[in-house]
Order: sequence, then structure tokens, then C-alpha cells
Amino acid sequence: MITRRDFLGSAAAVGGLAASGIWTAAASAEEPPSKVPSAEPGTHTLPPLPYAYDALAPAISESILKLHHDKHHAGYVKGLNAAELAMVDARAKKDDAAIANLERALAFHGSGHINHSIYWENMKPGGAREPGGALADQIKADFGSVEGLKTQLLAASATVEGNGWGALVWSPMLKRLYTLAILNHQNSFMVGAVTLLITDVWEHAYYLDYQNRRGDYLTSWWGLVNWDDVAARFAAAR
Ligand code: MN
Repeated sequence: MITRRDFLGSAAAVGGLAASGIWTAAASAEEPPSKVPSAEPGTHTLPPLPYAYDALAPAISESILKLHHDKHHAGYVKGLNAAELAMVDARAKKDDAAIANLERALAFHGSGHINHSIYWENMKPGGAREPGGALADQIKADFGSVEGLKTQLLAASATVEGNGWGALVWSPMLKRLYTLAILNHQNSFMVGAVTLLITDVWEHAYYLDYQNRRGDYLTSWWGLVNWDDVAARFAAAR
């Protein structure tokens, strides 16, 4: 088990190397310029909430949003950065055991950061109309109706065992929409799928407002869904 303190220790140790540019690959004269972004490891930042802390109340209270965004989401960004920096260190030292642990940390914190980033964007004060266009057609094809999707997604989310997420995803390979019940941030996800709509069912997402009534939180959450954002994600994924 890698603790946050271990991450930070390793991160501090390699911070100097990263800052010195040692880890930025130099372009060779024979090769065309790389199109890969040359962002330094460990430089992810917490995206701002796209609305005010009290904008989703009463469905989600100001105190939950503040804690959830500023503490929980921020923690995953910090964890991802630390894991990336520690991986640079482990790679240099050829430390296989550290690399094995860091792969789990990368998947956990990286997925935590990504899921939360999509979750905020998926919501809008007051919600935003029903899905339309190509998204509506695909929902009808795969779930019968929007009501059919709602029933399945809320049931999947309500029954996640312990901490996790309920998600609507598009599989570019299988050409279908699916609902997924994700454990933690990353387990039981479908390989290659693209998340279109996601709801956080970790207790930190609702317990202050709803205590153990996860189903009530999910019903309120459904009323906040920004279908314009979901449709834009679907268009990009196709
Ligand atoms: Mn969360």
C-alpha cells in the first residue's frame, strides 16, 4: 500500500529533475517533430466548478459542493500528480515493485480526477431539457426511451456496492450505449468506452444532505443533468 506521504516524498525527490528538463525528450534531427503534448508530469490542476457553490441547491447543497470539489476532487488531482512524479523516479531507478504499485495509484487517482471533471460539467442549475437529435435516437435504440435509460441508470447507480459511480457510456467499437456501475473510480469499467454522463455515489457526494437515502439523491441529480453537455460528448465520441 502506497501512502500519500510516500508519493509526496518521491515527488519531492524527482521535482528537481523534472524542473531541470531532463525528462523532456529532445527531438532528433532525423525524426519529424512529435505531436505529443510535452506537458511535464505532475502538472495537472483542479478545474474550477462551472457554476457557483450554491448553484445546485437544494438538490446538492453548497456545503457538499464546496467540500466535494475543493477537498475530494483536489485530493485526486494531487494524488495523480504525485503518482506521475513518483513513476518518473521509479522508472529511473528501474524499481519494478514501485512501478507495480504506482500503476494502481495512477488508475485510481487519474480516474478520480477524470470522473469528477465530467460529473461537474454534466450538471447545470435547473438541468437542461431532454436529450435531442442523434443522442435521443441512440437512447431510444438502446434503452427504448429516456425513461428506460433513467430507470436503468438510477438502478445501476443505486446498487453500486460501496464507493463508486453510475455512468452512461458509448462504446465506439461496439456502437452501443451502456450503463455501467463503476466500483471505486475505475473498476468494472468497459475498456475503450467513452463516458457521456456520470453520477458520483461515493457517500461524500450526498451524505450531508441525504444521509443513507442514495436513491433520493439520484432522483434529485437526474433533474440537474445538462443534456447539452451529454449530447456534445456523444457527438465527439462518435
Ligand atoms: Mn466524489
